[in-house]
Amino acid sequence: MDETALGLRASANAFLSQYEPLTLVLTPVVGLLVAILLHFIIHFLLENGIKRSFVGLIMGAVKLVPGVNKYIEGEKQKVVDKLQSGIKCKRESWQTELPHIGLGREVIGRLTSQKEKDVNWQGRCSGTVYIGGHESEGHFLLTNEAYSMFSHTNPLHLDVFPSIAQFEGEVVAMTASLLGSKEEASGGQVCGNMTSGGTESILLAVKTTRDYMKIKKGIKKPEMVIPESAHSAYDKAAQYFNIKLWRVPVNEEFQADVKKIRRSINKNTIMIVGSAPGFPHGIIDPIEELGELALNFGICFHVDLCLGGFVLPFARKLGYPLPCFDFAVQGVTSISVDVHKYGLGPKGTSVVLYRNREIRKANCCLDPQHQFVAVTEWSGGLYVSPTVAGSRSGGLIAGAWAAMMSLGLEGYMEHTRVLMETSKRIQNGIKEISELFIIGKPHMTVIAFGSKVIDIFKVNDVMSSKGWHLNALQKPSSVHICVTLQHTPVVEDFLIDLKESVKIVKEEPGTIEGGLAPIYGAAEKMPDRGMVQDLIVAFMDSTC
Ligand SMILES: *Cc1c(COP(=O)(O)O)cnc(C)c1O
Repeated sequence: MDETALGLRASANAFLSQYEPLTLVLTPVVGLLVAILLHFIIHFLLENGIKRSFVGLIMGAVKLVPGVNKYIEGEKQKVVDKLQSGIKCKRESWQTELPHIGLGREVIGRLTSQKEKDVNWQGRCSGTVYIGGHESEGHFLLTNEAYSMFSHTNPLHLDVFPSIAQFEGEVVAMTASLLGSKEEASGGQVCGNMTSGGTESILLAVKTTRDYMKIKKGIKKPEMVIPESAHSAYDKAAQYFNIKLWRVPVNEEFQADVKKIRRSINKNTIMIVGSAPGFPHGIIDPIEELGELALNFGICFHVDLCLGGFVLPFARKLGYPLPCFDFAVQGVTSISVDVHKYGLGPKGTSVVLYRNREIRKANCCLDPQHQFVAVTEWSGGLYVSPTVAGSRSGGLIAGAWAAMMSLGLEGYMEHTRVLMETSKRIQNGIKEISELFIIGKPHMTVIAFGSKVIDIFKVNDVMSSKGWHLNALQKPSSVHICVTLQHTPVVEDFLIDLKESVKIVKEEPGTIEGGLAPIYGAAEKMPDRGMVQDLIVAFMDSTC
């Protein structure tokens, strides 16, 4: 040992001899415990939002005061009752047991009278039913006929119903070809499946991506980063599939903020999301920039075309200046697109698409199967199913196929032309109402608007009393109309009613009672989001 080493040892000994041996052992242990505790606290605060955790903690403490919890529960019940009173069907008259003797065809009469309870959606609902005008009757007849011809079939039994397998393959291929599958940039391998709706398409894309990224990058604690405006289906996916979700605020144009998204990406990130357009404000996220980001980080990128998939490709062909949004953008790994919205298919039809087959299913038999579930050890036989549902109705698939084939490119182009013009007329009309402002620059057929001078939710309530059904939005408080073919003939009525509603709210705000305004108003001001969550869950629980 040389001189310096000896010197070091001597001074180390001198230093250590000042302490009790037990302290020497305990100090690092205590240090470690403190570090772990701090780590958990910081993690909890970041995960739940610092402000939110703080409010939650205080509310938790307040609720410990005797009587407070009971009071809060009572108030909650009042709001739930209020929400309930807005729903027209009352439970008392519900049938809760099978009729002893079957009613036979009499049920049709019962169905007819039950139908009268529903809102007359013709012309006055935002979104909801997308077909309209003189065409709608023929279109319903046709898709319903297609549905009824195949309602009893089940694509699970491929050997029995090869017709349905072909319809599904054709719907997927035709949809994919609208979204860049035929472009060179896509690699020519796009594949997909039909699902029950946008939510299922998104659930599957997220689940598949999670499994794919586990194999590809070994990510075991998956996280995803989405803009604040992305659909709530991603929260559902995160909850179902145990993925940590980061919702990132949008930029001033109400688009995904690429810089902020970049900052939220870490080694556990499996995917980012962009919408074309987003449901709240109808604005397309910067898909090309997000695609580049995904490529740079080697992660997946889902584009939500649930709403835009059967409008944007045609609007582009019509010459509307639109940013890129499909598989032609490098980096896009999956897409969801609803046939049951602007595709005008029956409710319960959507498509999930992947850039290639490797993402949808692993090549090695030992890997998880990504989207598919294959079971080899079941006494019920060898089982493989592509989507969430086991049995599915071939009727829906046939209905979607019939809708697409009967309309064709020309049909969708004409619809899109009308929809885009109707949307423009409504936007121009809203711009003329000085109390209102439009949120961002809508790219297609969803127009969100708010107000700096009056309560927009009260405007919504007055509009409801005039028979309009718009969507209430938050952050910022606003409402939107999702323009459908039903709105073309009633644009003027809509604008007149909107102008008048604004006037009423401005001049006599006190006269408007009930409706959604008090609930949204309260939710807006409630700092404890856990309470808002409790409230809407209590409402759901009371309805079924
Ligand atoms: C409608 C919609 C969804 C969800 O679709 P569902 O069919 O209601 O499940 C997802 N994303 C966007 C942008 C949508 O408009």
